[in-house]
Formats: sequence, C-alpha cells, structure tokens
Amino acid sequence: MRCNACWRELEGRAVSTKCGHLLCNEDASKILSNDAACPICDEVLSKSLMKPVDINPNDEWINMAMAGISPQIYGAELPK
Ligand SMILES: [Zn+2]
Ligand SMILES: [Zn+2]
Repeated sequence: MRCNACWRELEGRAVSTKCGHLLCNEDASKILSNDAACPICDEVLSKSLMKPVDINPNDEWINMAMAGISPQIYGAELPK
C-alpha cells in the first residue's frame, strides 16, 4: 500500500479520504494545515472527511501468495 500522493510505502497509520484516496500522515496533515484539497483529485477535504486507518500488511501478503510469490523473497517476516 502506498500513499496516493507521494507514493511512499505506508506503514501502520494512514488516512483515507472521502474521495477514496489513501494518504500518508504527512500529506494528510499538510492538507489539514493548509485547508487544502486532495492532492490527487482536488476534492475539498476537511478533518471530518478524512479518517485514520490501520494499514494491514496482511492484504499484501495475501496478494503475493495468490500471485505465487513467496513473501520470504522480500526478506520480510510474516506477521504473527
Ligand atoms: Zn504521502
Ligand atoms: Zn481524492
């Protein structure tokens, strides 16, 4: 999962917007401090239109497993 604005890898907490985009905390706080719009689609956003989400790495493990790629190739540990 990557931030839809800066494409950095998301870990732990991220922010999902009403317009359906996923932002890292840094981009989300930039929006809130500037009272700006979604950097991807220009939808006007405010705090009530954004909600914190937990990024669950399990989704990616599942996708990799379904694609036949072993997660171990990436040198990461499986979540417990
Ligand atoms: Zn970002
Ligand atoms: Zn958007």
